[in-house]
Amino acid sequence: MFDYLIVGAGFSGAVLAERIATQLNKRVLLIDKRNHIGGNCYDSYNKDGLLVHSYGSRVFHTNDKPIWEYLQNFTEWKTYQHKVVASVEGMLVPIPFNLNSLAQVFPSEFANNLTKKLIDTYGYGQRIPILELLNSSDEDIKFLADFVYNKIYLNYSKKQWGHSPDELDEYVTGRIPIVISRDERHYPDDYQGIPRDGYNKLFKRMLDHPNIKVLLNTDYREVITLNHYSKQIKFLGQLFEGKLIYTAKLDELFDYQFGELPYRTIDFKVHTVNQAHVQDVATINYPNDYAFTRVTETKYITGQIHPQTALIEEYHRQCTRKDIPYYPIPKHENLVIHEQYKELANNFPNLITLGHLADYCYYDMHVAVSMALTKFEQLKNI
Ligand SMILES: Cc1cc2nc3c(=O)[nH]c(=O)nc-3n(C[C@H](O)[C@H](O)[C@H](O)COP(=O)(O)OP(=O)(O)OC[C@H]3O[C@@H](n4cnc5c(N)ncnc54)[C@H](O)[C@@H]3O)c2cc1C
Repeated sequence: MFDYLIVGAGFSGAVLAERIATQLNKRVLLIDKRNHIGGNCYDSYNKDGLLVHSYGSRVFHTNDKPIWEYLQNFTEWKTYQHKVVASVEGMLVPIPFNLNSLAQVFPSEFANNLTKKLIDTYGYGQRIPILELLNSSDEDIKFLADFVYNKIYLNYSKKQWGHSPDELDEYVTGRIPIVISRDERHYPDDYQGIPRDGYNKLFKRMLDHPNIKVLLNTDYREVITLNHYSKQIKFLGQLFEGKLIYTAKLDELFDYQFGELPYRTIDFKVHTVNQAHVQDVATINYPNDYAFTRVTETKYITGQIHPQTALIEEYHRQCTRKDIPYYPIPKHENLVIHEQYKELANNFPNLITLGHLADYCYYDMHVAVSMALTKFEQLKNI
């Protein structure tokens, strides 16, 4: 009955389902073990009528105009620029650390001199990776980098990853910038926003096509089996000759034969508060205090008008097989195991893998969408 089976109804699976159904006129069965579409980008109203991002807040941002234009097919956008502060020594300091943060944290004469030095050295408006500043031979710049690293990132990393930054692949710390301007936006991208009617509506419109059937509450292992010798795929016990697009975990697909790929999971605690707003910005990071990493007040992001507000605390911990895997742990030894699974997957001619789980890599939403669109272009030509 189906030309394509797709496992996972997050952005990776949903974009491919939409493209295959509308552009190739092929029949797709989209399978997800959760009771909703949208994967980790799902949002819903809580018992108090507050719109909450159920798996942590999601802000869409990209510099890629075609991605932005593609998504216009399914939603209008509410303009939104994300702001984050970190609680450091009793102050709430804008993140990424920028010239305003500098002026807030240090005595004015020192801050002014350092500001001038940063502008003279790197140029106004630059975003310099903290790793580069940590290696600076200039004493003041090194002092600043050490301060930001130790007070803002070190303990946050330990809470988020269970590792300090130097135990992780360099690209994690490499991504953290210090901003040589007064731009306090968390993302500098050209296109930023939130689906006007929420993420769930976006996904519903994306998947609303007669060629797409959605099967929820179903672990793919109940309906799909892989024969590791013949490299054949069976669906409901019958040989399936179409393509299987798989966006879930690769270690699970291959029965953990090379060992388990470690992830971090998050417990979200949501509190409704009887006042219109609590925080001054959407997200406050707590690198050095409390067990949670950050608290997000989603109303800033959704723009919902409501007399109450919801605060979402995030507690990161090691992921077990029963938990939702949010963050792959970027350490060399894990990437080596993933590569072994990838080789097994490549041996199946009818199997296509993608998405942050199958690739064992953190992707922002625009990257997941972009990779799915690229995969579709490749598929078209097979
Ligand atoms: C805490 C957090 C905050 C984030 N914030 C942002 C942000 O602000 N901006 C941004 O651009 N990006 C953000 N991201 C990244 C964003 O969530 C991802 O880019 C996106 O969710 C990737 O989509 P995906 O389809 O690859 O994976 P997912 O959304 O994870 O979808 C995978 C799907 O596979 C299903 N599945 C898994 N196993 C099985 C199984 N055995 N059987 C059936 N189905 C299965 C899952 O239920 C899930 O629905 C954030 C990520 C995290 C973890």
